[in-house]
Amino acid sequence: MNELNRNYINGQWVSWAGDMIDVHEAGTGDVIARVPASGREEMEQAIEAADAAFESWSESTLEQRLKVLEQLHAGLKERGSEIAETVSREVGMPIKLATPIQAGMPAAVTKSYLKLLPDFPFTEQSGNSEVQYAPVGVVGCITPWNYPLHQVILKIVPAIAAGCTVVLKPSEIAPQTAFILAEILDGTDLPKGVFNMVCGYGQTVGDTLIKHPDVRMVSFTGSTRTGNLIAHAAADDFKRFALEMGGKSASVILPDADLAAAVKGTVNNCLLNSGQTCTALTRMLVPADKHDEACELAAAAVAKMTPGNPLEETTRLGPLSSAQQRDKVIDYIKLGIEEGATLITGGPEAPEGCDKGYFVKATVFGNVKPDSRIAQEEIFGPVLCVIPYNDEAEAVKIANGTQYGLSGAVWSADDARAKKIAGKLRTGQVFVNGGAFNPMAPFGGFGHSGIGREFGKWGLEEFLEVRSLQL
Ligand code: NAD
Repeated sequence: MNELNRNYINGQWVSWAGDMIDVHEAGTGDVIARVPASGREEMEQAIEAADAAFESWSESTLEQRLKVLEQLHAGLKERGSEIAETVSREVGMPIKLATPIQAGMPAAVTKSYLKLLPDFPFTEQSGNSEVQYAPVGVVGCITPWNYPLHQVILKIVPAIAAGCTVVLKPSEIAPQTAFILAEILDGTDLPKGVFNMVCGYGQTVGDTLIKHPDVRMVSFTGSTRTGNLIAHAAADDFKRFALEMGGKSASVILPDADLAAAVKGTVNNCLLNSGQTCTALTRMLVPADKHDEACELAAAAVAKMTPGNPLEETTRLGPLSSAQQRDKVIDYIKLGIEEGATLITGGPEAPEGCDKGYFVKATVFGNVKPDSRIAQEEIFGPVLCVIPYNDEAEAVKIANGTQYGLSGAVWSADDARAKKIAGKLRTGQVFVNGGAFNPMAPFGGFGHSGIGREFGKWGLEEFLEVRSLQL
């Protein structure tokens, strides 16, 4: 049992003797750690520390910032296998994937800012004016459980690189890697108060963070419901905010596409992290005359994904992260059957041999109606909806026919045709014929999927205010 009865405030560990929150292992349901259910006072202390540290850190040199990021990068690399195993246990992602993604991405993103920062123009000339990019102030970072360290790094690294100070409220469901991060930063040259971390529930410490007048920006990743609360709270005080929220992304397979490759690519993407991925391609749009063949191919791809212990090297599909999440996904599978979709494979029963932990069968529904609830609402589990369409215009209409706009995919034998359709999708990113994920490209959503962008220079600019000096 990992008893983490402390918060990281003003450059030191502050012990906590109050209520604790249990952290469960996804594959067994066992309690593996306990973290503080901190109170508003602890959060206020952290904000005070960040506020006090701001003036000095906002004037820090490029060399100081680069040195800290280098030290952080080295620490993330050194503790990579511990990070991968911790997230695999908390979230359920198979270790074979958790190693490059849950542990590899945080190090890669930190490195990307190390490369980008020296060339970033913090000042530029416009006519007789010098335009300056100044850090926004104290930033509150609030993060979810599905990529728990990656989502934290995407906020705190560019924020610190911009000269901001931060207070992190990590997910209470998968919090342990935030402690590893605080330990790493504690061993760097980062001045006290620049990074603070307070654990607890959203309704208490999260609420204090988003409403505190000394917090000038909130950077949030999580559900659309919480994002909405944050936007309202920020409006009252004219705080800046960046929101990365849910999705219901469409994979549009055009008639001329290599159907087998497109279906395989879509299924693999949809089932990544057991569907607990905001960008998951959960709606597969196929030409009506290829619907049955596409469903057969999807069922065959899913059959290879036997659920198992995420810590075993051979496991391809792990459990969900919590009992609550598992129950929510099972309810959606039952709803799909009630709504009249065709159950191609999977279903609401627990997978064989998985009586402990939070496992759900990978499920494919065929003949899904575009306006049905399973095609409109984010399920956040291993559930794929196959939707037939009659022509390109209808495919685009269906793809754009949800409140979300995070990601998408287009598949065609003709790259130019695929790119033309990609340009019609109202989403923040589109994967064309299986293009690779690029950590230097902007990431974020249209509509209810988000406001603002992360990664690369776009992620850095979120944390900067613009000032012009007329000379
Ligand atoms: P959630 O909104 O319940 O929680 C996210 C964070 O917000 C947690 O730290 C939580 O404690 C905090 N929170 C909850 N209520 C709060 C309140 N009233 N005030 C302040 N903070 C509060 O989301 P979740 O269930 O942890 O995460 C899953 C969601 O995240 C999914 O909808 C998914 O699509 C989304 N997500 C989006 C992205 C993206 O980049 N677009 C990435 C990953 C996950």
